[in-house]
Amino acid sequence: MNKVLTLAKRPVGKPALSDFNFIDETKPSPAEGEMLLEAAYVSVDPYMRGRMNDAKSYVPPFELNKPMEGAIVAKVAESKNPDFAAGDYVLGSLKWKQFQVSDGAGLRKVDAALAPLSAYLGILGMTGLTAYMGLSLIGKPQAGETLVVSGAAGAVGSVAGQIGKIKGCRVVGIAGSDEKVAQLTSKFGFDAGINYKTTDDMAAAIAEKCPEGVDVYFDNVAGEIADGVHQNMNRFGRIINCGAIANYNDTSAPTGPRVESMLIKKSVRMQGFIVFNYEDKYPEAIQQLARWLKQGSLESSETVVAGFENIPQAFLDLFAGRNNGKMVVKV
Ligand code: NDP
Repeated sequence: MNKVLTLAKRPVGKPALSDFNFIDETKPSPAEGEMLLEAAYVSVDPYMRGRMNDAKSYVPPFELNKPMEGAIVAKVAESKNPDFAAGDYVLGSLKWKQFQVSDGAGLRKVDAALAPLSAYLGILGMTGLTAYMGLSLIGKPQAGETLVVSGAAGAVGSVAGQIGKIKGCRVVGIAGSDEKVAQLTSKFGFDAGINYKTTDDMAAAIAEKCPEGVDVYFDNVAGEIADGVHQNMNRFGRIINCGAIANYNDTSAPTGPRVESMLIKKSVRMQGFIVFNYEDKYPEAIQQLARWLKQGSLESSETVVAGFENIPQAFLDLFAGRNNGKMVVKV
């Protein structure tokens, strides 16, 4: 049989295990020109929370009682497609199914000998690319500048901060436990870290750790953490709006300090982005990330959960900060 994971309910507020459903299907057989894929590593990502709502966005919502989908590294179990051989590994946006057939459209081969397969979902995949694009194209950090990263011990944040160090910045990270904060400096080479869960006054904590002010803010979380960083922005600073996980489970529109006056007075640029905007730049970015990884200037960090049946819990754990680096499920 073939396990399939569907969206059973649209969550209101925090998602729960009961929003998901497992069903059994018959294992499919590939037709001529197709192949049978077996999921090897499944990516769970915070942006999927938005797709669980019935709301218009840059990607369509997941459909109720249909399989969810996302980035998956799959093994070609059987091939009737001349471009792929049994034993190849492919990466693409695939359904949350143990087995599925594909004609190969939108899939690219990945080399297990060049990097661990899970890396193609993380540091050499969407999250590494997000850190690279956001920082280099919007943040444009200069040597000697101060970079602050929120969600700093996560998949995107840990890479963004490390790229900031490569570019010669002073890097301060914000994360949700003392253990994660310790890792920021010991593992990722950040200059300092702040545990937002034990900090009452984020603006004061940033001022203390960033005596020269903040030139670039890579924002993965938004909310009150961002409010505190905004108060410390330098003139001509850049704010990269990458993610807003602090608001993803909100049931009403979040409110907070108005930022317009600060942006004007300090000539700060604030820009959101979606990594898919920059698909034309993926090949050069992946090459650069792979080079840094090989040179040892980038440290990859992953939390690997075992078992297809644990995909929902792994997804929920993102909102409780139970991951270090990229959260992936090994099927
Ligand atoms: P992470 O690996 O960073 O996992 C999520 C982390 O967010 C958790 O580990 C937790 O860490 C933190 N978190 C959860 N809830 C809150 C909260 N209420 N307040 C503050 N922190 C919280 O995820 P990714 O690296 O994959 O994604 C990071 C952000 O980037 C997300 O917002 C995501 O949506 C966004 N993103 C944007 C893309 C784009 O194209 N713009 C592409 C990919 C991701 P902690 O223990 O520190 O709380």
